[in-house]
Amino acid sequence: MKRYDYLIIGGGMAADAAVQGIRSLDPGGSIGMLSSEPDAPYRRPPLSKDLWNGKTKVEDIDCDTYSHNIDFHSERTAVRINRAELTVSDQHHDTYGYRRLLLATGGRPRSLTRDDVGVIHYRTLEDYRTLINDLDNKEHYAVAGGGFIGCEMAAALRSKEKKVSLIFPEDTLGGGRFLLSWLRRWRIITKKRELICSQDSKFRRSGRRMRARRSCLKTGVRFL
Ligand SMILES: Cc1cc2nc3c(=O)[nH]c(=O)nc-3n(C[C@H](O)[C@H](O)[C@H](O)COP(=O)(O)OP(=O)(O)OC[C@H]3O[C@@H](n4cnc5c(N)ncnc54)[C@H](O)[C@@H]3O)c2cc1C
Repeated sequence: MKRYDYLIIGGGMAADAAVQGIRSLDPGGSIGMLSSEPDAPYRRPPLSKDLWNGKTKVEDIDCDTYSHNIDFHSERTAVRINRAELTVSDQHHDTYGYRRLLLATGGRPRSLTRDDVGVIHYRTLEDYRTLINDLDNKEHYAVAGGGFIGCEMAAALRSKEKKVSLIFPEDTLGGGRFLLSWLRRWRIITKKRELICSQDSKFRRSGRRMRARRSCLKTGVRFL
């Protein structure tokens, strides 16, 4: 078992910022990072913006965390912390020792369905790859969530000439922070006060049912 001077659980932008902070104070200490994701830290905001309009490529969003001389353990989810022994175990029962431990586990999207067939809980680079590779097969997407990212994803899919239905429970998109005219310009159909309670990409409210070939959930995050 390797014992790190600094062990970080999480592989997002906060973890990358922590590595930069550590390195500014301690250029030589050993740093280990465990991430559930296959990709090293990358900038998440372009996933719903510049990756879709061609201004940014996937290789441009890498945070370059490797250049700070760290051990990156991809697809390793920390499942147990032993504070007495100063160790962390992952899902494969591998153990990592630490002197200092940082939790940077961020959040994960809220799930609204029990059966996730055909649903992307859009948050990661893997989700982006799944969606972009899926575009040739599907014409109609339901995007659930009327916040910033839901609207951005609706616009992104419209920019690929897909039919998009944006579903949100509030009276107004983004709680009134956005202009409906902006969405109408993209010919996005909005459905107010829809409640999502069904499965298999079928959304239902008051007996009404909407079908979509693929659904993309952006329903906010649950902090870990
Ligand atoms: C599509 C999209 C667009 C966005 N656009 C904007 C924007 O324009 N402006 C803005 O300010 N914010 C934006 N955000 C939000 C911003 O990206 C987040 O606030 C930021 O990514 C949070 O970083 P984080 O490192 O704290 O957490 P996360 O990004 O959630 O990263 C946490 C990481 O920890 C990993 N992890 C979790 N649990 C474990 C575990 N037990 N073991 C190992 N690894 C674990 C996760 O897999 C993940 O890699 C956007 C988010 C998304 C998804």
